[in-house]
Amino acid sequence: MALLKRADWYDIARSTNWSPTYVTEDELFPEEQSGALGLPLESWDGYDEPYKVTYREYVRTQREKDAGVYAVKAALQRANFLDTAEPGWISILKLHYGAFAILEAMASGAESRMARFGKAGGMRNMATFGSLDENRHGQIQLYFPHEHVQRSRQFDWAAKSMHTNEWAVVAARHLFDDIMSARDAVGVAVMLTFAFETGFSNLQFLGLAADAAKAGDMVFSNLASSIQTDEARHAQIGGPVVKILIENGHQDNAQRLVDIAIWRAWTLFATVTGPSMDYYTPLERRQQSFKEFMLEWVFGQFERTLVDIGLDRPWYWDIMLDDLDTRHHGMHAGIWTFHQSVWWDVPPGVSPAEREWLEDKYPGWEETWGAHFWEPIIERFVTDGPVETVLPSMIPLCNMSQVPVTGTPGWTPGKTGRPLKDYPLEHKGRTYHFGSEVDRWIFQQDPERYQDHLSIADRMVAGMIQPPTLDGLLAYFDLRQGEQGGDALKHSWVEAYRQARTEAA
Ligand code: MN
Ligand code: MN
Repeated sequence: MALLKRADWYDIARSTNWSPTYVTEDELFPEEQSGALGLPLESWDGYDEPYKVTYREYVRTQREKDAGVYAVKAALQRANFLDTAEPGWISILKLHYGAFAILEAMASGAESRMARFGKAGGMRNMATFGSLDENRHGQIQLYFPHEHVQRSRQFDWAAKSMHTNEWAVVAARHLFDDIMSARDAVGVAVMLTFAFETGFSNLQFLGLAADAAKAGDMVFSNLASSIQTDEARHAQIGGPVVKILIENGHQDNAQRLVDIAIWRAWTLFATVTGPSMDYYTPLERRQQSFKEFMLEWVFGQFERTLVDIGLDRPWYWDIMLDDLDTRHHGMHAGIWTFHQSVWWDVPPGVSPAEREWLEDKYPGWEETWGAHFWEPIIERFVTDGPVETVLPSMIPLCNMSQVPVTGTPGWTPGKTGRPLKDYPLEHKGRTYHFGSEVDRWIFQQDPERYQDHLSIADRMVAGMIQPPTLDGLLAYFDLRQGEQGGDALKHSWVEAYRQARTEAA
């Protein structure tokens, strides 16, 4: 049978909208699922996705991608790369799989919402592929770490994490419920695909693929590339949606959704990617600092995308720039200090050579993080041997980002960074705490959406974590023996300091 050329049929097929007659348009596309802001079907006729693909082409390409990645995995299985991999890289793998495998599978549902309730035919078409993409990402990132579970139960957190109340998982769920699981089709398009994927995760996977190749992990490098090429395609669902919102007088709505999503994505990146790039990645393999990466790709490239499309950069741009010198250093310090509370072993990343690198990339790091946070710990470790670093009390958590409130230790006006500060809000008789004015602003955009959530600190105060002790907390996190993180170098890094002190004495 002769096949029509794609160009001869594609434009008709990709935008099949029709006028409903058995039900009303509102019944077919209820506002709470579509989020179309009352814009009728005709307003969506101009939706033009920049990336066009047919189902036939999609299936062929995806089949080839899967075949390629699984073949590399099979070929290298016997090489046991992890036996000789650097501890920092293994930590990155465990962190990555635990944080993202199930979230990727959940993203399939968000894409499905656009595939059913998006009012533009092209949007539904793209989102159908997007839903299949995310299903594949979920499956492959559950399958690949599974063979490593025999090596460490921490790899089992790829499957386990989202079924727990571990603090970083609570933070991730709060974010992805907000921009993905509990948003309508327009909300998902703008917040997940346009802001989060275009601005952040597409680049994250590009960087991860390159880092993996440099670390010698060809299996993960291929996996990350295969995911990234899907992200690059379905991330383009959101741009044309933003254009239609702007054309129809809803620029403010689009801007608000983008502003919320970018800040929330930033706080996740500062918790996960920042420590990975600046503290976990072995020094000789680092190409860019987290700050350089963010400035070039997110602040530079994505800012141009925003302006090109007709939006402004978020009102908090300067606050985010300041945060770039603070947040991820604080997250790393906190996570290393309380390494039992995560499912990966945490590399300290503060050997003398690493500190030189940090000072070079973040001038003033030594005066603040070095002198006021790490030096006292190193001093104690050298004198008394490695001792417990968990704080005996609950630290303040942000009621939006769900991660600790941070500031720069030893900060004084004029220095880079910012002071440790709570941004509280009274709302219906409850005091909420926020790590920044931006987190507080997000809450104020839709208090009913967020008001009933309890942070881990709130749950502790409410008596939901029993017994209210460290062991009780770790049990609440469902982190069992063999799953709780340790110091990734088993404190061997302290020896260099001990020797230096001995020689100096
Ligand atoms: Mn994905
Ligand atoms: Mn995606």
